[in-house]
Amino acid sequence: MVDFASQPADYGTLIAAGQATAPTGQATAPSGQPAEPPAGPPAQPSADEPVRVVDSGVELRVGLATLMGLVEEPGEVAGAGPVIASVARELAERQRRGQWRFAILDADGHLLFDGLTRYRPTTVPAGGDSGGIVELHVPTHLLDPSLAEEHPAWARLLTDLARQYDVQAPIVQDPAARLPGRPLRRHVQVKHRSCSFPGCRRPAAQSQVDHRRDHAKHGPTHEDNLGPACAHHHDLKTRWGWRLVKRDERTYLWISPLNRRHVVTIEPIAPPFPAPIPQSETAPDPPPDRPDDTDG
Ligand SMILES: [Zn+2]
Repeated sequence: MVDFASQPADYGTLIAAGQATAPTGQATAPSGQPAEPPAGPPAQPSADEPVRVVDSGVELRVGLATLMGLVEEPGEVAGAGPVIASVARELAERQRRGQWRFAILDADGHLLFDGLTRYRPTTVPAGGDSGGIVELHVPTHLLDPSLAEEHPAWARLLTDLARQYDVQAPIVQDPAARLPGRPLRRHVQVKHRSCSFPGCRRPAAQSQVDHRRDHAKHGPTHEDNLGPACAHHHDLKTRWGWRLVKRDERTYLWISPLNRRHVVTIEPIAPPFPAPIPQSETAPDPPPDRPDDTDG
């Protein structure tokens, strides 16, 4: 177990070590490619930019099964990229006192329900940093009560998630308020992942909340009218004549002042990890009638 009291909270070094061998392409797919290069400079974290911390921590996104040690799938540090499973577990331990969110996902990795839990696994030592975000990705099969019985250290957290998913308490929000309250703001961040502009990877938690239809034009402060936009891309809309149109639940159009249209799609929060190849296809012995394809 990590002894936090004796270690500096050097997240950058830990994340860099975790990225050296982390598989790429998982949980970091850009959200929809524009049909043509969009105007304006990219508002993405550059290689020279330090990993953005969230109140003295980082925003870790990780499968609950990985934290429980059931699988070894990579996690992701928002704005930095994927980290290997062991580093994701260590980051979560360091942020024991941070905010732990959960996102319950359907079979395709899309959001079903999200919320906060105050429970932590009993294997994580007390202490740690009070900042940062740990976002747990939870497929519904992990809510089976038998799993809580098999993993007593995680039982209270698993039971809490199952209970909240069962109740699915709605978010209370005044639609006339100018700004969303924290529950709705968090829901928008979890659902949309990053700035909604095509190709922009600025994490939603580091973006502003944009009213697709302006609040000044009676656009409601409601989930359907809200999305994250980084300061630069929010400006494109509020000051430079860009428009944002919703086509369906997961598809939006950014329309430039010259009427060029760029499609963006809400991607799955955690696309399913590739299924293993069946053992029969990876058996070491070739079939007996396999033709000999070597020369001579
Ligand atoms: Zn942006």
